[in-house]
Amino acid sequence: MRRFDAIFVGAGQAGPFLAARMAERGMKLAIIERKFLGGTCVNAGCMPTKTLVASARAAYVSRRGPELGVKIAGEVAVDMQAVRRRAHQITMDARNGLADWLGSMDAVTTIYGQAQFKAADRVGVNGETLAAPRIFLNVGARPVIPDLPGINDIGYLTSTSILDLDTLPRHLGVIGGSYIGLEFAQMYRRFGAKVTVIERGAHIASREDEDVSEAIREILEAEGIDVRTGAERIAFARYGEGIRISLDGGDIDASHVLVATGRKPNTDDLGLDVAGVAVTPRGYIAVDDTLSTNVPGIWALGDCNGRGAFTHTSYNDFEIVAANLLNGEDRKVSSRIPAYALYIDPPLGRVGMTEREAASLGRKVFVSKRPMAQVGRAKERDETRGFMKVIADAETREILGAAILGIEGDEAIHGFIDAMNAGTRYTDLQWSVPIHPTVSELIPTLLRGLG
Ligand SMILES: Cc1cc2nc3c(=O)[nH]c(=O)nc-3n(C[C@H](O)[C@H](O)[C@H](O)COP(=O)(O)OP(=O)(O)OC[C@H]3O[C@@H](n4cnc5c(N)ncnc54)[C@H](O)[C@@H]3O)c2cc1C
Repeated sequence: MRRFDAIFVGAGQAGPFLAARMAERGMKLAIIERKFLGGTCVNAGCMPTKTLVASARAAYVSRRGPELGVKIAGEVAVDMQAVRRRAHQITMDARNGLADWLGSMDAVTTIYGQAQFKAADRVGVNGETLAAPRIFLNVGARPVIPDLPGINDIGYLTSTSILDLDTLPRHLGVIGGSYIGLEFAQMYRRFGAKVTVIERGAHIASREDEDVSEAIREILEAEGIDVRTGAERIAFARYGEGIRISLDGGDIDASHVLVATGRKPNTDDLGLDVAGVAVTPRGYIAVDDTLSTNVPGIWALGDCNGRGAFTHTSYNDFEIVAANLLNGEDRKVSSRIPAYALYIDPPLGRVGMTEREAASLGRKVFVSKRPMAQVGRAKERDETRGFMKVIADAETREILGAAILGIEGDEAIHGFIDAMNAGTRYTDLQWSVPIHPTVSELIPTLLRGLG
């Protein structure tokens, strides 16, 4: 039995960085990965999808060239094999870079295989048992496949398998109108496919305020995407060469179906019960505010703990655990202000509470909203879709949350992220002097609308 100072299960966006930090302290570490180093972000998430989004945007901008006085001879065509190759290359560069980096550390042993607990301080992999007083779980999540009639007969795609597609679907049916589904929907529409988004709820991007959800819908519909909400009864059947999706509002004749109905943690095949590690009713590993599980010596980081579902939250989990364990700090996950982006184009940048959340907490709030059509940069690029919105506490003047749906919204939102993390009152920012012409220059005006 090999002994280590710590074992990491899963090489996602937290474990490898924590292992490197512990290696600097002279510890001996094992990282067990059952598939690819870098996990979802590098191999099937952020990196390949944002590369595809960039190709889709290039097609969109090229088609709009003549509106900006740029002539393109002939039709704008998308080479799906080249698009896929580019995304794959970005993934391979990141995966190989991580392998080289981990390989350069003598203290780190990387083992490929499926890990399972043998005891609270023991993990089995490839028939061998490894022991360590500290075990860090960074096992991530995978797509959920809903139990819908006929779904198993149609050869559906997931957000992972669609990355291998190098031909253009005639008609892509996207089941699920949340972040992942919407990004793929718009990108495939821009590549040239007919696209229908099918959402069971009343709104797409339903975690957002209704005005944001509706604006996203308008953006997608304006590009020719058919959005069907309130789809209660969805069923599938093979139909000639294609797939028939039966819905209340009329059937859809698709060539491909992408199932994007959420993700679930990779916790069912880890042997957590053997170690006595508790999970939540939804299968996430239960953790306290320092990401420690109920079993001393076992931590859970990243998507598998249900405290975040993003690369930056997983990486922040690493920072919290490293600060507490190695630097004697007292950092807590509850101090994190949630922030994320939806990478449709224009993107949605979000931080903190929605208006609905603030209202449900009984906060008395001020809300200010301005259209992107007032942003000089947006007018100059002729991309004025969307709006920005901020929510503040009417008594304390604290900024509670913000949304920027518009060009560069994912970058401009950092003005709010920084202000909120610094605890700045909005009254201190109302008269700041921004740079012209930028998206952020509308922020002081937006804040002056807050009463
Ligand atoms: C299509 C898509 C697009 C996304 N876009 C974004 C984005 O733009 N921005 C963003 O912030 N987030 C995005 N995300 C989410 C982001 O990818 C994840 O939040 C992030 O990768 C989570 O990292 P993690 O560290 O929790 O685990 P992961 O990166 O999922 O890694 C977990 C690793 O553990 C391994 N593993 C699991 N079980 C075992 C076991 N028993 N033994 C050994 N190894 C095991 C897995 O193989 C995997 O490599 C996207 C996700 C998807 C699916």
